[in-house]
Amino acid sequence: MRTSVYMLAAGIALSLSAPIVPVVAADEVNLYSYRQENLIRPILDEFEKETGTMVNVVFAKKGMLERLKSEGMNSPADAVLTVDISRLAAHDEADVLQEITSDILERNIPSQYRDPDGHWFGLSARSRVLFYAKDRVKPEELSTYEDLADPKWKDRICVRSSNNVYNQSLLASIVAHDGAEVAEKWAQGVKDNLARKPQGGDRDQIKAVAAGECDIAIGNTYYYGKMQNSKDAAQRDAVEKVALFWPNQGDRGAHINISGAGVTKSAKNREAAIKLIEFLSGTKAQEFYASSNYEFPVKDGVELDETVASWGPFKADDISLYEVAGAQVEAVMIFDRVGWR
Ligand code: FE
Repeated sequence: MRTSVYMLAAGIALSLSAPIVPVVAADEVNLYSYRQENLIRPILDEFEKETGTMVNVVFAKKGMLERLKSEGMNSPADAVLTVDISRLAAHDEADVLQEITSDILERNIPSQYRDPDGHWFGLSARSRVLFYAKDRVKPEELSTYEDLADPKWKDRICVRSSNNVYNQSLLASIVAHDGAEVAEKWAQGVKDNLARKPQGGDRDQIKAVAAGECDIAIGNTYYYGKMQNSKDAAQRDAVEKVALFWPNQGDRGAHINISGAGVTKSAKNREAAIKLIEFLSGTKAQEFYASSNYEFPVKDGVELDETVASWGPFKADDISLYEVAGAQVEAVMIFDRVGWR
C-alpha cells in the first residue's frame, strides 16, 4: 500500500514514539529523501509499476541525518537520497549506512562517483562552474578556478557563503588535488577579489552578474538550466546576459559533485532498497532523473537533457569523490581562517 507523503518541517526534533511509516511489508521500501518530490516521484512510480514494490517517501528539507541518528536501528528508513558528496559522507561518518555490493551498481556508476566501501552511490552529477557577464568578460580571459585568485579580478567576483556545502566541496577538491596550503592561498585570493560579501544562493550569483554587481560568479550548472527554463521572465532575461564557462579544461577538468543514495543500517527491506537504487542507476531512470533537474546522468551513454546538451561537451574532473570528502574538514577550516564567511 502507498502511505501518504510526510513533510518534515525544518530542523524539528521528531517524536520517536509515533511510528512514521505505519506498515512494513515485504513489498515496500521506505525512503528518506532530501530531493524534492516533483523530481523523483514520477520515476518512483515507474519503479512501483515495474516491480510491484511500493516506495514510501519522507521528504525532508533539513534534519534527516539527525533523525536517522536518533531513530537508530528503529528507523523505518531503508534508504536515503540526498545531494552533495559532503552530505553523503556525513551519513557514512555517522554510521547510518551499510555496505552494499552490487554488480549492477558497479557497472552503472563510475568508481569515482561511489564509495569504495559501498556505503553511498552517486545517481546524478552536477558541475560547479564559472558564470560570466557576456558584455564585460571575454571567455579568453577565463581559464581555471585558480585564476579567480588573480588580482586582475579584484572586486569582480560574486559567490555564496562558505557555510554552503557546494563551496566546501569545491574547496575540498582543491585541497585534494593541490594540498591545503595552495587551497588556502586560493581561498584568500578569491575572498580578496569579491565584489560583495558572500550571500544568497547560486541563482542569486547569476542574477548579480546580470545586474552588473559583479562580472564572474561561481555556481552549480543546474541552476543555470533552471533559470534558462524558468516561467519567470526576469530569470530568463537575467540568464541571457550570463554565459557558462567550463573551468580547468586544460588540466584536471571542471569540479563535479553528485546526488546519491545509500542503504541504511536499519533497513528492514534491504533487498528492495538495493533494487530501488539499482533501478535509479539504470538507463531509463538516469535519463529522467538527470533531466528533471538539468543534471548529468552518472551512467555512460545516457542521453542528456536538451538544455544540458546545449552547454556543450566538457572535461570533468575525475578525482574520486571519496577523496574529496576526505578533505572536507580541512576545507571548512580554511574558509574560516580566510574569513570567507
Ligand atoms: Fe542546489
